[in-house]
Amino acid sequence: MSELNEKVRNALNQQINKEMQSAYLYLSMANYFEMENLKGFAHWMNIQVQEELSHGMKLYKFVLDRGGKIEFMDIKATSQKWESPIQIFEAVLAHEKYITKSIEDLMTIAKKENDFATEGLLQWFIQEQIEEEATAGEILERLKQINNSTNGLFMYDNVLSGRQSGQSSSNE
Ligand code: MG
Repeated sequence: MSELNEKVRNALNQQINKEMQSAYLYLSMANYFEMENLKGFAHWMNIQVQEELSHGMKLYKFVLDRGGKIEFMDIKATSQKWESPIQIFEAVLAHEKYITKSIEDLMTIAKKENDFATEGLLQWFIQEQIEEEATAGEILERLKQINNSTNGLFMYDNVLSGRQSGQSSSNE
């Protein structure tokens, strides 16, 4: 196995930070749902937090196994104020699209540097992003259908409370 290329290593380190940053962003959303007593949404979002941490760790272990240096960077608080479930899931979808773009850019770098092992790892992340975007989009569409109905929201909250670890969808 060839040594981890510096450009690839830098990009991987930034991706680790972005995954950790995602976890922190989703935790702020989970906190909004806790405060609004939407326990099912909070539960769903807490699993999302765990998933993002696991994405970060997957990249971390990869860089470590390749003998690369890990760079620790700042994790920032979000500047956004959470106001409604719809606004939150619009933000989730936008964020996941940003993450997808970031992973695709990383793939471009890995290909350019002929780093086949990184390409293989990133292939997993690219598939994962298809699911992440689809799930955020589905929940957003459902929230639009619910259209501010309190009953509908509480029923959906109950559906989301059924999410299990390692499962992306709401299991409808
Ligand atoms: Mg992720």
